[in-house]
Amino acid sequence: MNRFAVAVAAAIALGVPAWADVTEADIANDALTTADVVTNGMGRALQRYSPLDILNKQNVRKLTPVWAFSLGGEKQRGQESQPLVRDGVMYITGSYSRVYAIDIATGREIWQYDARLPEGILPCCDVVNRGAALYGDKLYFGTLDARIVALNAKTGAVVWNKRIADYKEGYSFTAAPMIVNGLVITGNSGGEFGIVGAVEARDAETGELVWRRPVIEGHMGELNGKPSTMTGTLNATWPGDMWKTGGGATWLGGSYDIETDTIVYGAGNPAPWNSWLRDAGQKDDGSGDNLYAASRIGLDPATGEIKWHFQTTPREGWDYDGVNEVIPFTAADGSKLFATADRNGYFYVLNREDGRFVRGFPFVKDITWSSGLDANGRPIWNEANRPGDPAKAADGQKGEVIFAAPSFLGGKNWMPMAYSQRTGLFYVPSNEWGMDIWNEPITYKAGAAYLGAGFTIKPLYEDHIGSLKAIDPITGEWKWEYKNAAPLWSGVMTTAGGLVFFGTPEGELVALDDETGEKLWSFQTGSGVVGQPITWEQDGEQYVSVISGWGGAVPLWGGEVAKKVSYLNQGAMLWTFKLPRELAQN
Ligand code: CA
Ligand code: CA
Repeated sequence: MNRFAVAVAAAIALGVPAWADVTEADIANDALTTADVVTNGMGRALQRYSPLDILNKQNVRKLTPVWAFSLGGEKQRGQESQPLVRDGVMYITGSYSRVYAIDIATGREIWQYDARLPEGILPCCDVVNRGAALYGDKLYFGTLDARIVALNAKTGAVVWNKRIADYKEGYSFTAAPMIVNGLVITGNSGGEFGIVGAVEARDAETGELVWRRPVIEGHMGELNGKPSTMTGTLNATWPGDMWKTGGGATWLGGSYDIETDTIVYGAGNPAPWNSWLRDAGQKDDGSGDNLYAASRIGLDPATGEIKWHFQTTPREGWDYDGVNEVIPFTAADGSKLFATADRNGYFYVLNREDGRFVRGFPFVKDITWSSGLDANGRPIWNEANRPGDPAKAADGQKGEVIFAAPSFLGGKNWMPMAYSQRTGLFYVPSNEWGMDIWNEPITYKAGAAYLGAGFTIKPLYEDHIGSLKAIDPITGEWKWEYKNAAPLWSGVMTTAGGLVFFGTPEGELVALDDETGEKLWSFQTGSGVVGQPITWEQDGEQYVSVISGWGGAVPLWGGEVAKKVSYLNQGAMLWTFKLPRELAQN
């Protein structure tokens, strides 16, 4: 137990008043302190690894529910939140921009906050929310009308409420904010509406903007109320005015590498989906790449300046957003690396100093759009697998239809993977599926879908779409695979007890053996699990919590797959489990 865990344990033992302000040190050490979970990702490195081993392979079969909490109302839909735990209180966000504070001893509600959403919000892919941030005496979360709200964590009262962008243009915000050195870091959602992705930092006390970094080339950044620097070089990789509505939504939030002092954010698909409309003539010099869409970007937390970038899918044309989480880890030989599993089906390992490509390999079985990666991590395109140019079609309306894999929902979507410091493996929630996709003409109109594409998702295998894989980031080897009939859409967590937790759309919270993939325990939650499990300990007992509630993008956009899973029931229930002391001792 490190000194922070000792301090928390001492505070509980002495009966010190319930809430102690969350400090930068608490956040920096969250992954090590087992009595609380104060950050999204169980630490800003997003490893989702707990050093707890009270619960382990031998006793997990005795894991028992202790309470469940209903989010109530008719606003069920997808529940993708990760709970936070601090001083006896659990905080969750819910669909339709709601927040709950719950007594972890009893499951009783302490307070609830409902954002008043206007008519005409434009969420592309369900009305989800993926979690909150804690800092000082406040809780921070984003809303479907593209606002960031600070609440008093004790009472749920609004402290400040700021607009990120105009929801009428298609902006929203659903990711968990991140705190770095007293700044609240947020992105934006809306990549299907021709918005422009940006990362913003606000003073946590006041909500005042400190810096803003658009992630599409040609747009100007901001620092302390003044223009700072332009992102990239105007028209270096975008033709004409297309950069003005270039997409690159930063919709999944970021990670923070404390060792290099770098915030890492991903940028979504370039807009529109029809890549022929932003084709500057692909050349070996990268002049048609559409930077920094479909990229990972390293940012200076003090200024918002771009330190490095790595583009996973140049001239992207399949909706392979580059937003997936980037996880700092240290390999057995001491090398300091990042890992990320992209929508495009490739797993990338990058250098933590400069984002440089180290290695990459597929993490799904079928990739059609590319035949591999070159020495710099740049994809080797299969040009025949690019959706055809509608301008070349006989009617000028519908380009050639191609079948591409992965589907646009990705080899992996938003659902976070986990890294085990025990095994050195990443546990990657992937999906094996493809799509028919074609391009159409489109012109930009504010607040309207800006795709220029049509699509139908299709399964690739009879018996499964979901595929949780244990992947060695050094060799690229898949150690084991756990197949699931429905597409996986929940976060993964792993522990020093040798367990890998995740949920299924069929409703189970599952624990697997981290070395073999053997199923050791499961519990039927009553609705699909698309949330993110956490674990913590209190009074020597280990707890696990997860939110259940089927929804998200699959039922809305899953094509033939959506029909296959239409029998799944909605719900909205937070479950908490523990290993009771008397059972742990047997
Ligand atoms: Ca902690
Ligand atoms: Ca997208």
